[in-house]
Amino acid sequence: MLPEKDPKRLGDRDPKEDPSVTLFREYLRIKTVQPDPDYDTAVKFLERIGSELGLQCQKVEVCPGRVITILTWRGTNPQLCSILLNSHTDVVPVFEEYWRYDPFSAFKDSEGNIYARGAQDMKCVSIQYIEAIRRLKAEGRHFPRTIHMSFVPDEEIGGHKGMEMFVKRPEFATLNVGFALDEGLANPTDTFTVFYGEKCPWWIKVKVEGNPGHGSRFIENTAAEKMHRVITSFLEFREREKQRLKSEKHLTLGDVTSLNLTMLNGGISFNVVPSEMSAAFDIRIPPTVDLKAFEEQLTSWCRAAGEGVTYEFHQKYTDQSVTSTEESDPWWKAFSGTCRDMHMKLKCEIFPAATDSRYIRAAGLPAIGFSPMNRTPVLLHDHNEFLNEQVFLHGIEIYAHLIPALASVPPLPAEA
Ligand SMILES: [Zn+2]
Repeated sequence: MLPEKDPKRLGDRDPKEDPSVTLFREYLRIKTVQPDPDYDTAVKFLERIGSELGLQCQKVEVCPGRVITILTWRGTNPQLCSILLNSHTDVVPVFEEYWRYDPFSAFKDSEGNIYARGAQDMKCVSIQYIEAIRRLKAEGRHFPRTIHMSFVPDEEIGGHKGMEMFVKRPEFATLNVGFALDEGLANPTDTFTVFYGEKCPWWIKVKVEGNPGHGSRFIENTAAEKMHRVITSFLEFREREKQRLKSEKHLTLGDVTSLNLTMLNGGISFNVVPSEMSAAFDIRIPPTVDLKAFEEQLTSWCRAAGEGVTYEFHQKYTDQSVTSTEESDPWWKAFSGTCRDMHMKLKCEIFPAATDSRYIRAAGLPAIGFSPMNRTPVLLHDHNEFLNEQVFLHGIEIYAHLIPALASVPPLPAEA
């Protein structure tokens, strides 16, 4: 057993370590890993913090075993709409054999890099919110707007038994949210990436039917020939989008439509020409694309492939709401102004995949995706996910400025 995998080490407390880092590492050791996350321990951990900080704690069980924990710091003017600091508690699975250290030991190396599943996605952010609020409370600060921290389950498997249900509950309406912060991505340069919208995920299964027969003959109109045409049309589109991303320097992955063939099924035997085949595609569409026209294009590719070609949606997200990044928007002004004051370089992008922010935006609320990790390689869902403790601590500093600015946004016209 490697020394760093020795469980006896896990309980060690380094007296020189910043207590925020110690708390972060403690949270990382809770195995909230899909597909069987230990949510009970996470909820107890959050409740303990809530009582430590003197925050009101509410638990909403949106479905059996799926609890949203909300810690609330009441504002001095609770009539005003609130600030929601959202984070998810679950993490994606690991392939332990590819990890340098036990992914749930939160091992810290001599450079201060903390290795753990969830170090970037997104247990860092949860603890940064908490520690920023701890600091502001210790300073005796108060703000007009109420601040809620929500900790939600199941984001990594689509949020269907988490945020998607929560936004439809009366308890969510009672929070009276005006603006939300949620997760973003690391950036390897000095810049911080900020996400103001997301792509729409479309999961499509194309089914083709054709003439069956013996494998020794030239059967006309086979399913395979039609499938060939379908795949060619879809993958040629993929190639065009890929080249567009490559050649137009200002574009990011969030600006183009990504498409992948992810499953292929059909056939029963070597010598039997099958009458049916299917192909599954994972398509991610930016908010700038006309969805109706895009679907017409898919339909025309299927029609052109021959008779008996149909498709069905397994996921079809159509809400294309984006959050304003205009200086005239009071929330954005508070967010970007604070970052400017802290000499942070920001880059605004469309999130290339999907997060719980889409449910918040679909509920008509502005949401910014932001995980304060610059000078950090993007390692979410990757082996050896880590975050440096200095980057983590700087993130607390950033929230300790952002939260007051957002919670002090003057009453909006609708609130006056
Ligand atoms: Zn995440």
